[in-house]
Amino acid sequence: MNEQNKPTSIADDIVVSLDYTLTVDGEVVDTSSDSEPIQFIQGHGNIIPGLERELYGMEVQDNKTVHVVAKDAYGLSDPDAIVEVALSEFSPEIPLRPGVELQMRNEDGEVLFATIVNVGSATVRLDFNHPLAGKDLTFDVTVVDLRQPTAEELEHGHVHGDMEEDEDLEYDFDEGDDDEAEEE
Ligand code: ZN
Repeated sequence: MNEQNKPTSIADDIVVSLDYTLTVDGEVVDTSSDSEPIQFIQGHGNIIPGLERELYGMEVQDNKTVHVVAKDAYGLSDPDAIVEVALSEFSPEIPLRPGVELQMRNEDGEVLFATIVNVGSATVRLDFNHPLAGKDLTFDVTVVDLRQPTAEELEHGHVHGDMEEDEDLEYDFDEGDDDEAEEE
């Protein structure tokens, strides 16, 4: 990586390392402070749009509080995504309690996430909405680092961190290329 090319502020196609704390209804629901900053390529929809568009122009060490309304975050809660499923559909080891999050597979084999809303005598009400659907989000963010993406990252539209599991496995063979390990 050539250091003289290091970006000074957030713009499209720049890799951003961002510390964040997400607060919903006054409660911290997620923070990078007990792990690593998130890394993403600005302008590629790697993060929710309502946050991404507020980051343009920020520099390293800049801090900002960003409010994102539900429709610009995880969307509004869709009543059609709340369904009743017969109790007999659940294997006995599944803990059927309100608030439990389940991973399910549909007929096409896709993994779906659902939260148990309540458990009746014959059915279980499941909510397939994202847990943050319908919620306004408040992000407190600090820019930790900025860098240029590798050509491959830019082509894929996402960051190739050491621990990253790529989702585009069909054409993504990162091993053995000249990616330099990052400091930190
Ligand atoms: Zn990739």
